[in-house]
Order: sequence, then C-alpha cells, then structure tokens
Amino acid sequence: METRNVPDYFGELLFDDRQMRSRLSSKVYASLRRTIDRGEKIDSMVAESVAQAMKEWALEKGATHYTHWFQPLTGVTAEKHDSFIAPSPDGSVIMEFSGKELIQGEPDASSFPTGGIRATFEARGYTAWDPTSYAFIKDKTLCIPTAFCSYGGEALDKKTPLLRSMEALNRQALRILALFGNTSAKHVSTSVGPEQEYFLITKEMYDQRPDLRFTGRTLFGARAPKGQEMDDHYFGVIKPRVQAFMNDLNEELWKLGVLAKTEHNEVAPAQHELAPIYSTTNLATDQNQLMMEIMQKVASRHGLVCLLHEKPFAGVNGSGKHNNWSIATDTGVNLLSPGETPYENAQFLLFLCAVIKAVDDYQDLLRLSVATAGNDHRLGANEAPPAIISVFLGDELSAILEAIEKDVPYNGTEKKTIRLGVDVLPAFPRDNTDRNRTSPFAFTGNKFEFRSLGSSNSIACANIMLNAAVAESLKIYADRLEGSADFEKDLHEMIRKTISDHKRILFNGNGYDDAWVKEATEVRGLCNYRTTPDCMPHLLDPKNVEMLTSQKVFTKKEMESRVEIMLENYCKTVRIEANTMLDMAHRQILPAITDYAAKLSGTVAAKKGVNPDLACAYETSSVSRLSVLADQISARCEELEKAILKLEGAADIIEESVAIKDTVLPKMAEVRAAADEAETLVSAECWPFPSYGDLLFSVR
Ligand code: ADP
Ligand code: MG
Repeated sequence: METRNVPDYFGELLFDDRQMRSRLSSKVYASLRRTIDRGEKIDSMVAESVAQAMKEWALEKGATHYTHWFQPLTGVTAEKHDSFIAPSPDGSVIMEFSGKELIQGEPDASSFPTGGIRATFEARGYTAWDPTSYAFIKDKTLCIPTAFCSYGGEALDKKTPLLRSMEALNRQALRILALFGNTSAKHVSTSVGPEQEYFLITKEMYDQRPDLRFTGRTLFGARAPKGQEMDDHYFGVIKPRVQAFMNDLNEELWKLGVLAKTEHNEVAPAQHELAPIYSTTNLATDQNQLMMEIMQKVASRHGLVCLLHEKPFAGVNGSGKHNNWSIATDTGVNLLSPGETPYENAQFLLFLCAVIKAVDDYQDLLRLSVATAGNDHRLGANEAPPAIISVFLGDELSAILEAIEKDVPYNGTEKKTIRLGVDVLPAFPRDNTDRNRTSPFAFTGNKFEFRSLGSSNSIACANIMLNAAVAESLKIYADRLEGSADFEKDLHEMIRKTISDHKRILFNGNGYDDAWVKEATEVRGLCNYRTTPDCMPHLLDPKNVEMLTSQKVFTKKEMESRVEIMLENYCKTVRIEANTMLDMAHRQILPAITDYAAKLSGTVAAKKGVNPDLACAYETSSVSRLSVLADQISARCEELEKAILKLEGAADIIEESVAIKDTVLPKMAEVRAAADEAETLVSAECWPFPSYGDLLFSVR
C-alpha cells in the first residue's frame, strides 16, 4: 500500500478553511468568515452558496448522505441521515442539497430527553447549523455540526449554551480590553485542549462480561495480584497491539482535521491517554465527541474495546479528562499569559483575578458540571481531584498575589512593592510544582487545567459554566472600571480586593490530605459535594439562576430541565447497574459457587470412600465459607431488590437520586464484597467470567 505523509491527508475529510477559500467566491468566503470569527448573522444567499460548495466537495469524497450532527442531552452525539438524492423526470436521480437544508433540520426528536421542556404533542425539535464548527465526512455522510432546540427556542443540547457562554465571555472581555486601550481585538474566545484517558481491553474478554457490556464498568471482580503499584505502566513502552491501534486512530483523526498530538500509557495497566493540540472551545468540544466515537470504532477493528467509563475497574485508577483552558483575542494574544510591559501585566492579573473570583463564586457550578454517576467514583477517591474545588497557582504566583494583597515588597529579585500599571512584574517562570496532580483547577503558566472532568463526559458542560462564571467576574469589573476617574488606582484596588475576598479558594497543597477536607470545609467554608445528588440541585440556587440567566447562557426553564435530566441520567445509570448486578449474581455467580462447592463436596465423599479418616480440611473449610458467602450474596441481592422497589415511592427525581445514593449503591457494594471474596475461592475454570488479571493484562 502506498504510504502518504500526514500533511497530504490532514483534514481531507473536513470542509475547513482551505476548502472554503478555494471553493467559495471571495465575497461569500469573506461573509462566511465574518460569521465564523465574529458571530455575524449568515444570510440566505451565502448559505445557498456554501451548501452548493459543501455538496460538491462531499460528492467528490464519495459521500451519499448528509446529516445534522448534534449533541442532545443524552451525552452522546446524534445523527439522522438523509441522502442527497432527488428524483429527476427522466427516472434518474440528481444529488441535491440546499442552503435551507444546510441551515435548518427538523429531526423527529420526540425521544430525546427534554426534562419537560417540550410538551409531548409538540415533538418537533430543530437543528440549526453552527458555522463555527467545520462540517466533516464520516462513513460516507456529510456531518454538519448543529445546535438543537425546541419549537419555542429552548436549548435541548449542549452546543447552544456553550456558544452562548462563549459569546457572554466575548462581550465582557472586550469591555475590559477597551479599558486597557486595546481596540484592535474584535473578538475574544476561549480555547481548550482536552486530554482524554481511556482503557483498552480485548473484545474477547469484554464479550464475556455482562457488566461491561451493559454498564461500561465491572460490577464484580477481585483485585488482580498485580495492579498499578509498580508504576511500570505510566509512560511505559507501548505494546505493539496498542501502538497499531494508536497509529490507526491518529490517521483517522488527522483525516478529520483533529490535531491528535500526544499519546502515552497512563497510570493503570491497560490505561492510555490521547491529547490533541488545543483549539477554540466549540471546535474542541465537537472534536472530542468525535474522538471518543472514533476511538471505539478503531478499537473494534483491532479486536479491542475502548472503555471510556470513569471507573471501569475498582482498585485501579479511573479515567478522566483534563480541560486545558485559556482566553485569547482574535489578534492572537493569550490573556492568561503574563506579559512583558506593566500594562500587559496588569491586564493579565485582572483576567487571572476574574478566574479566581469565578471559581470561588461558582464552585458549585463547576462541581456539578462534571457530576455523573460514573465520575462520582473518582472525585474524592485519591486518584482524581477531590470533590472540593480549589485553585492551584504555584508558589511564585501565589507569592506575588500575596504581596499585592498585603501591599508589601515581593521577595523576587528586586524587592519592591508592586504598583500595577506602573511597575513591570518580576518574570515568573512556569512553576514546576504544577505537577501537583491533586488540584482540580491548576494554573499551568498560560492556561488553567480543570482536571475534574470524567472521561466519558462531554466537555461542553464544564466549559459552559467556566465561561459564564468568568464572564460574570469580568462584567462586575467592567461595570466598576468603566466609570472610574482614576483607572490605575481603582484597578489596583480591585485586584487587591479580589485577592483578599477570594483567597480561600487558593490552595497549593495536597488535595488528598484529610486535613485539607477539614480545613476547606470547616475553616474556609468551601463546598464539598461528594456526589451527583448532592450537587445537582444547586444549579437552581438563586445566585446561579441569576448569573446564568443574566449572562444569557440559560433560561430558568432550561436550567430546571437540565437538573431533571442529569438526575434522571444518574438514576437510570445506577438502576441499570443494579439490575445487571442482580442478573449476574443470580444467573452466573451463585450457580458457579454452588457448582464448585458441589464439586468439592464430591471430592470429600470420594476421598472418604478411600479413607474415612482423611480430614479433607481444605475442601470442607472452602465449602463452608462458600456456603456462607452464597447465602450472603443471595440475602444482599434480596435487600438490593427491596431498595430498588422502594424507589417507586420517591416523590420526585431529587428524592429518588438521594435514595439511590444512600440505599442502592451501598447495597451494591455489599453484594460485590461477598462475590469478590467468593471469586478468590472458586477455581478459575469454574468462575463464569474473566478476572481482573485477564482483563487488565490481556492486550499485548
Ligand atoms: P501537560 O499538561 O502534559 O504538561 P501541555 O501543557 O503541553 O501538557 O498540554 C496539555 C494540553 O493543553 C494540550 O492539549 C495542549 O494543546 C493544551 N494547551 C496548551 N496551551 C494551551 C492554551 N493556551 N489554551 C488551551 N489549551 C492549551
Ligand atoms: Mg495536563
């Protein structure tokens, strides 16, 4: 087979800027660019031309269908394919695609979750083209990234509020830049580089585990003799089969214009990571969804299964996603990068303070933006950041902020007090201590890394909250500074006050330390929402509704529907897990235990037949213990069933989710404990599914 160089095929399945420029008239191209870069409305003539160019390009690439590709609140992407064909009078077909079809679609969307927004008689939902994310071809289908909303205009997806949050941040950031005399920047947007963790196991093993197939995680499984304790997997040599998968994956992603960059083995056996180069948040979000889908597809071609669940295996690290986030102008200036002039530095510090204030004021929103049943297993379990949100700045920057707050000399090289807008800040190099993996929200030199996201999560939710909260800080700053008679003085004072008001959120220490939990909650008054039911209802706290509606990111109705949907997802997820558990216990585990015990008892009888005086201590003690465990499993399953039945009495979804957390999940843990002990006593041959050792060490 011919080998092609990456630059030759990079983005060949993407209708990107290169295609737009070469296939559109310069007038249409310029107009489309204004829509993409500055959010200007697109007119129908332009849409028509774009549709024709897109169609021609797609047909050249062999596409037969098109689809509006969207992200309903199920958390995955959705698509409904239409072919381009239209009948022609002579009996043949022509390939058709209009501007109208590009701009708007109307999938029969009655089965997507809406949290009560759409009355059932009004099943229609609309999809609307998002020109800021490039169309692409997947499986002979032209995929057009779209937003999804109801007949009444309410967002039914994750893209719409994400775009709104980016717009909110743009509006407020431009006000701040104007105050610093920057009028050349016309647009400010956020960028994200999401680092994606995942597991690879063989398809053969996967197929034998109902828990993996139905829930994405193992509900049973005794620890393997070896786990991650040797740290020999992290950054270790990549096994040939995994490397073949990664090569194939990179190629698929590169064709789609995804800048897949870094790949390495992670901490747990069979765990890996893939990071793309960062891009605009909206694009990064779409591409991350696409990346997750393609990972699974490519894995299957290699006889593997890619597990994206946050906690597929107990006792070894789960998978997350690091959301590297920054704010930049259309002129290419990263606003979270310390500058070289006094003004640049003051501006940097103001944006930094806006983030600090945002994270402190809206800890709850950041926490709930990453909350799912799967991610609850990680946060606070000493492998991912704790459920308590805090900001890591590193020693150097912390010392600078402290000096500003206290108005004392900064102990850098020059030892003088820092007057913002007047003095040049001492250069502060990227802090090495940013390897502090325990911080949920760490400054890493010119960006923040939000590390609490779950591996299967869409990154949209986290970025919606982050953008909106920062927009709110910037709005408060702009409101105050725009009328200021002494800009420098007021700016300095505002930065000082932000540090002093919000320093409780700053923490450079070990987030896994029990002392931190105590200090954070008891002394600093930070939120510690351990689980999804604990945090989700806080979306509707008055301060959050006020902020998100005034920033025009959500309507109150949309927020109410989202609480409903997120909690419904949580309840459904755990219910499926509980049912799978019961099924496996009754139909696989208990029969295996009794069969094996019968086998041992048979051995005892046979041995005693030979010599009645033989003790048969091993067999008899095993049978006794297995019998106790089988009774425990059976009794606990019965209790679990009762706990599930009792859920029917819950008054609403909040009550149901709390009952699931307090009664169903603990009971599941009890069933598992007994079954996992039994696994260690039953012969490998008799155990009904592959062990942790098989699963974690099977890919070579
Ligand atoms: P690490 O976190 O392992 O040190 P890097 O910091 O190099 O790795 O990058 C991690 C991710 O952060 C990558 O996806 C990278 O593209 C992204 N990134 C780098 N700079 C920025 C930025 N200014 N804004 C957003 N993401 C960024
Ligand atoms: Mg990182």
